[in-house]
Amino acid sequence: MEFETSVVHSGEEPNMEPGGTGDIASPIHLSSTFARKRVDKPTGGFTYSRTTNPTRSMLEARLAALEGAKHGLAFSSGLAAETSLLLALLKSGDHIVAFDDLYGGTKRLFDKVMAKFGVSVTYADATDPAKVKRAMRKNTRMVWLETPTNPLLKLCDIRAISEIAHAHSAVSVVDNTFATPYFQKPLELDADVSLYSTTKYMNGHSDSIGGAIVLSDEALNEKIKFMQNAAGAILSAFDSFLVLRGLKTLPLRMREHGSNAMKVAEFLEARSGVQRVRYPGLDSHPQHGLAERQMSGFGGMITFEVSGGRGAAIKFLESLRLVSLAEDLGGVKSLAEHPASMTHADIPRAARERIGISEALVRLSVGIEASDDIIADIDQALARANGKR
Ligand SMILES: *Cc1c(COP(=O)(O)O)cnc(C)c1O
Repeated sequence: MEFETSVVHSGEEPNMEPGGTGDIASPIHLSSTFARKRVDKPTGGFTYSRTTNPTRSMLEARLAALEGAKHGLAFSSGLAAETSLLLALLKSGDHIVAFDDLYGGTKRLFDKVMAKFGVSVTYADATDPAKVKRAMRKNTRMVWLETPTNPLLKLCDIRAISEIAHAHSAVSVVDNTFATPYFQKPLELDADVSLYSTTKYMNGHSDSIGGAIVLSDEALNEKIKFMQNAAGAILSAFDSFLVLRGLKTLPLRMREHGSNAMKVAEFLEARSGVQRVRYPGLDSHPQHGLAERQMSGFGGMITFEVSGGRGAAIKFLESLRLVSLAEDLGGVKSLAEHPASMTHADIPRAARERIGISEALVRLSVGIEASDDIIADIDQALARANGKR
């Protein structure tokens, strides 16, 4: 089944059995528990909604289908998916090698939570697989990648690094939130686990917080599924419905995010008052070649620096009218933010600057509005930031 068909059909076929209602749009199963006829067997297959829920099961089946994978698991947030994965697969004394440019909340989870339980992390510049290889230790059980990264849109070679992980019997995990399975399929590139904040493009409408894990390995799935129930950070039935619905338009939205972002990136690259535009679709992106090989599109995220430093970046952000100043990304409405004081404020300033998150950096999540309107808004806000109006 093609991706465009799978997003609207998989996991959600109308029930045409006797007694089935033939729903085209699936109902939201809010029931916390399910009656049974016999003590030793759940009559409809469901026992208690933390363990399994019919609406969540439909979403989990769809998530798996979109990557040609065997299993999908939905969690109450991207970070809940990460926490459950780490608790399921690691123990005290284990070591993680992680990309040094990661979503700020992932770093916070590693450094401030997992560290308390004796799990250590080495951050490596994964744009160079050799640096990942050098960071591997005897006790390395997991390699954690994000590509493209939040916020600097760096890429790493999923296949090459998964090979390094496997040579050390470590699990390779890819946070695929920015690309989505529409533009990049980590499992096909030999990663063991694809992970998502469904809050972003997967749901796509800025109205649900959620997370997901997709994988095919049976042994890993058993452990993660056990932890999903044991730790209990599940996605609610209502949010499962929203993500099921959001996914139906994922290809349409991603194509639009991608073509709008390309136009905005080209505009920014040509505009004065702007520096260091980063977008994987631009020839000037240092890993444009890898992006073309590994991804089938470049996504909707752009970062750039406003000339004039922190003051100018803030003036720009506060002058936007159509584009909202907000954390979050991947929704139909365009959003912009200041990583140094918002999403990545928890990373100490020196560490931020070492990896390139400067005070002038702006992160843009390009929505699906008309590109001319987005560009006009950015243009007027830049004019104000550069003191021309
Ligand atoms: C937002 C985000 C997360 C965390 O997801 P939540 O749903 O906010 O918990 C993880 N990784 C990336 C790349 C993100 O953008």
